[in-house]
Amino acid sequence: DKPQIGVIGMAVMGKNLALNIESRGYTVAIYNRTGSKTKAVATEHADKKLVPSYTIEDFVASLEKPRRILMMVKAGAGTDAVIKELLPLLDKGDVLIDGGNTFFKDTMRRNAELDKSGINFIGMGVSGGELGALQGPSLMPGGQKEAYDLVAPVLEQIAAKAEDGAPCVTYIGENGAGHYVKMVHNGIEYGDMELIAESYNILRQVLGLSVEEIADILKDWDQGELKSYLIEITADILTRKDDLGTDKPIVDVILDEAGNKGTGKWSSQDALEIGMPQSLITEAVYARYISALKPERMNASKVLSGPKPVEIPEADRKAIIEKIRQALYFSKIMSYAQGFEQMKMAAEQYNWELDFSKIAPIWRAGCIIRAQFLQEITSAYEKDPKLQNLLLDPYFTDIAMKYQAAVRDIVTLAVKNGVPTPVLSSAINYFDSYRAQVLPANIIQAQRDYFGAHTYKRNDREGIYHYTWYEEQ
Ligand code: NDP
Repeated sequence: DKPQIGVIGMAVMGKNLALNIESRGYTVAIYNRTGSKTKAVATEHADKKLVPSYTIEDFVASLEKPRRILMMVKAGAGTDAVIKELLPLLDKGDVLIDGGNTFFKDTMRRNAELDKSGINFIGMGVSGGELGALQGPSLMPGGQKEAYDLVAPVLEQIAAKAEDGAPCVTYIGENGAGHYVKMVHNGIEYGDMELIAESYNILRQVLGLSVEEIADILKDWDQGELKSYLIEITADILTRKDDLGTDKPIVDVILDEAGNKGTGKWSSQDALEIGMPQSLITEAVYARYISALKPERMNASKVLSGPKPVEIPEADRKAIIEKIRQALYFSKIMSYAQGFEQMKMAAEQYNWELDFSKIAPIWRAGCIIRAQFLQEITSAYEKDPKLQNLLLDPYFTDIAMKYQAAVRDIVTLAVKNGVPTPVLSSAINYFDSYRAQVLPANIIQAQRDYFGAHTYKRNDREGIYHYTWYEEQ
């Protein structure tokens, strides 16, 4: 059998995706720049229909035509290097898929360049980590629709399946649309993670609960509206003890400096670029940055102290824990509302036709942000694919109205205790700004007109005005 598909890059993601594809009955060609890795995979899985090649020429020659090639290499220079080697070996109509975490503008550029040679280039977001790659990831492919149709059967087989059996893959849109949607997914992931961290911090610092008690609370939350992969793994994390024998919870010995690989930042940067507020995700990125200033924070803590903690009567605790749950759910909704608004604006600016009734369902399983409430988002967009904002769907309107009091109380309580809540606070601020009939932007416009003659519009008549703020000198 000639391999029906090939995978380039035998690091964790490529290897696991190759095994996933093979497990669906395909013969898979495999190749890696460093041959020893290809050999290791082929040897370890000698019983499987994997066809190793040790030169890129042999790899390409081994494939059935039109060729279908999935690249899983280090995004950026790695992707360009592999494309450069491949290009002279490919024929018109071949389909090249980049499954790396690629910046969407790179995908737009590569798609246009390869299109000149008649090569179909698909930029595909892959979420689910290494286990997802093996068992079923969520896939976000963008590129030529005809090219997608050629690979759709394979992608549908390897993708995660939602509860209703639907595969977590859909055609997202032209050129960089798939990688864009993956970028926003990752931004949302930053927000979700930080919201859980802030909620944990309030439970720990304000209510003084133990790590074990918080684990139980999260397990409980995972039974209801908040049911999601990230709540589930955080509950599990909180039950784990240090593996180096200190007998402490592992979270108590993990240094509080968060790293990042930049995809959250890209999401914020593009929100700034296209002019859409994405305050929750951006604050989540900043929260990682400020955490990384650990030595500076340690220094500052000797000089700058906070308020005296507020005494919380035992009798109030249960109600406060429920309010934290509500505040978390409320804030998660604000974050997704912003993420979808951003994608809507991006679709306009980059000329994509994004169908959220098809995009929301592919996040229901396989990916890191998988959660029960994605079913609610799916239903909202199925009812109204042109929904202006998630908050205007009756289900989300209702939750926002019911839970806003909780988030106001929790943010206030945290502020009074000197416990930071950058993302929870952003959530209520977004809600109050988005629903405001009047914002103080009149003051901004007056200031701009005053110092820079930038002009202003009036709320009682048409036209552009400039006020004479001072006599010409
Ligand atoms: P890495 O991102 O660590 O990339 C390593 C692979 O890239 C190796 O196969 C390496 O080959 C190859 N490579 C790097 N530079 C070059 C080059 N110049 N020419 C040829 N090959 C090169 O591997 P991962 O498996 O973690 O990720 C693969 C892709 O998937 C990345 O784009 C990543 O962002 C993305 N991704 C990763 C996820 C994860 O959870 N890890 C989740 C979703 C997406 P060699 O062995 O020769 O060095």
